[in-house]
Amino acid sequence: MKRGLVASVMGLRCPKCRHGVLFPTDTLAFDKPFDMLDNCPECNLNYMPEPGFYFGSMFISYIIWGFFSLSFCLSLMFIFDWSVNGSFVLLLFISAIFFVPLYRVSRSIWIHINIKYDEKALENK
Ligand SMILES: [Zn+2]
Repeated sequence: MKRGLVASVMGLRCPKCRHGVLFPTDTLAFDKPFDMLDNCPECNLNYMPEPGFYFGSMFISYIIWGFFSLSFCLSLMFIFDWSVNGSFVLLLFISAIFFVPLYRVSRSIWIHINIKYDEKALENK
């Protein structure tokens, strides 16, 4: 089955073969949330090409969460007439819930930006 780019990014799959998983545990399992595999279990792609490779994924999560936080708080305050404190307290709860999923998707986006898809990755395994 051929997986598209968005399905591969959001499904936390290997960027090269789009088949192997990036993380050993489920995102909502609360078990080893920040552990990432060293290599793709399907095509053996090295997930850590150099030390500090995922430094750039922090910028991805910063951009995503910055724009979300801004639009979330502003819409609560100006559309639903919430107070500043109330909207920030709700934002803190939502941030705690989405911390691990955002961390994982940011790493997935970053590795998909840097490593190209190879249709034949699984053929010459
Ligand atoms: Zn792979």
